[in-house]
Formats: sequence, structure tokens, C-alpha cells
Amino acid sequence: MKKIGVLTSGGDAPGMNACIRAIVRCGVSRGLEVVGIRRGYRGILEEDFVKLGSRSVANIIYRGGTILETARCEEMKTEEGIRKANGILQREGIEGLITIGGDGTFRGAVALAEAGDVKVIGIPGTIDNDVYGTDYAIGFDTAINTALDAIDKIRDTAGSLQRLFFIEVMGRSRGFIALEVGIAGGAEDILIPELETKIEQLCLDIRRSFKRGKKSSIVIVAEGDEAGGAFSIAQQVWERLRLEYRICVLGHVQRGGSPTARDRVLASKLGAAAVDALVNGMAGYMVGELKGEIAFTPLRETWEKRKELDSNLLRLVKVLAE
Ligand code: ATP
Repeated sequence: MKKIGVLTSGGDAPGMNACIRAIVRCGVSRGLEVVGIRRGYRGILEEDFVKLGSRSVANIIYRGGTILETARCEEMKTEEGIRKANGILQREGIEGLITIGGDGTFRGAVALAEAGDVKVIGIPGTIDNDVYGTDYAIGFDTAINTALDAIDKIRDTAGSLQRLFFIEVMGRSRGFIALEVGIAGGAEDILIPELETKIEQLCLDIRRSFKRGKKSSIVIVAEGDEAGGAFSIAQQVWERLRLEYRICVLGHVQRGGSPTARDRVLASKLGAAAVDALVNGMAGYMVGELKGEIAFTPLRETWEKRKELDSNLLRLVKVLAE
């Protein structure tokens, strides 16, 4: 293999740049030519390529977002789009492709590989952490620390004013962010899509917490919770308790920012492992980390299998709110 491409796709995640840097520098050290593909799969179709050398990735390890930019590309979901993309990759001589993103990104990679000759390796990069085959996806650690910083600040106000706060965090249809920031931020309750939200029970918990002498109450709401977002849930609680509350939707602040050390190290390890995998003739896998070890999972399994929440952490929520 002489030439590989790298792209970031789907939502951006802090640590993607550290991963690009690792791919480029490890690729160069293995004698490979590395091509950056801008704006995800759209960049293949529009031939938006940039040659990357070791110096092109200098001073990016600490930057959030992705220097290659990212985009959603509907055309890639069509046979015609896949055929066109494979033709361009072949013409460019790109034999290996490393895609950094979530399960949608991996679906695109598999579609390309199945219809052409390109060898693909995926790297999980999504703040939602909803990818099977890795304990942590790149960006998750930064996102939960960003959210936690905000929650800690809100706790100061909640405690001073004896207030009930509903804080909505990201995570799309999963509760990974909500669970970890809920534990780390000492939340009274965590409402996540994986568990049915019972408003009556929530009201009881809130009432009891104030009766037990708590000065404030923070409820973390995952954006994908089936009972609605923080506004809807707060309204339902208000109708029952008539307790003054405040709402904070953290939103996109959770997506950006300088990656934590943990995300930078993970991104560097996964980027290096992806290059090694391609050089060693592996293809069709996602490289992740399970229990501290590099782990390869067939790309298809990353969306066909469901990553479970840590049940021990889930059990702890109620106990620690006492
Ligand atoms: P995140 O979870 O952070 O949003 P993601 O990779 O899941 O990341 P998606 O928007 O689902 O984000 O997918 C990114 C891109 O991957 C899509 O815009 C599209 O170009 C491509 N893609 C997604 N699904 C498919 C598919 N079934 N076939 C081909 N390409 C796909």
C-alpha cells in the first residue's frame, strides 16, 4: 500500500485533529503518502483533496473541531454516489481509507469497500459515545468534562438560591453523556432514553430530596429522553409540584473546545493503530479501545450491535443522590 486517505465525517468531536495528526505522522513513518479529504464523503465526490505531511499537522493536537472539516453527504447513500466515489478513489490511487466518525460514517465506509477495492478502517469519533466496540469514542471525554464544568457552575447558583434545575445535555438517542455527567456532577436524577421516565416518581424524588434538607436539586435530562426535552419535563413537574425551577440547555458548547489529555492520547493510539492495521493488510474493521487494549470490531457490528450503558453506574445514581 502506497497511498491512504483520511476523512472526518458526521458531527465533529474534540480529538479528531489529534487523530489526523497521528495518522499522518505514523503513515509517513511507514513510507505512505497521506491525503486529507475535506468535508467527509462530500470531499471525495468533489475531489477536495489535500496532501498531508508531518508539518501540515503541526500545532493541531490541542485544537477542537477538525481541520479537514466535516459534512453530511446524502449522495453517498445512493448507488450512483458510491460508484462515483470509488471511481475517484481509484483514479487518485487511494488504496486505503481511514474514516473518523460515528456509525453513519462507518456505513459509508462499508458501502464503499463492498462496491470497490478500497481498504477501509474506521475510528470512533463522536461525543455521543454510542458506538459498539469501544469503551470511549474520541470526543466523549472532552464533552463530559465541558458539560461537567457548566453543571458545577450551575450548582453554585442552585445551592445559593435553593433552586431546582433541569439541565439538558447532548447524546442524541443515547444516555452516555447524561449518565456520566450525572454521576460526576452529583445529580438528583438522570433522565435517559434507555429508561422509562416516570414523571410521578421524579416528582416524589424531588420533593423527598428537599424534605431531606437538600438546598438544591439538579436533574440531568438527555436530549433524546422519550418524555421530551428539559422544557417539557420541567413543565410536567411544575404542574404537579408548583416548585420554582430553572432550565439550562447546554447545547453545542459540549461539542467544541480543546480536547482533554485523555481524548488526545486515545486519538493518538487509535490513529496509529489504524495505520498499522492497513499496512498489515487488515480492512473492514473499526479500531477502538476496550478495557485499555486496542480492539478491532468488524465495521458492520458497530451499528448492528448495541452498546450497553454501564449498569453499575446506573444503579449508583439513586444511591448517591440520598
Ligand atoms: P455522529 O454520530 O457524530 O453524527 P455519524 O457518522 O453517525 O456521526 P451521520 O450523519 O449519520 O454521522 O453519517 C455521516 C455521513 O456518512 C453521512 O452524511 C453520509 O455521507 C454517510 N452515510 C451515512 N449512512 C450511510 C449509508 N447507509 N450509506 C452510505 N453512506 C452513509
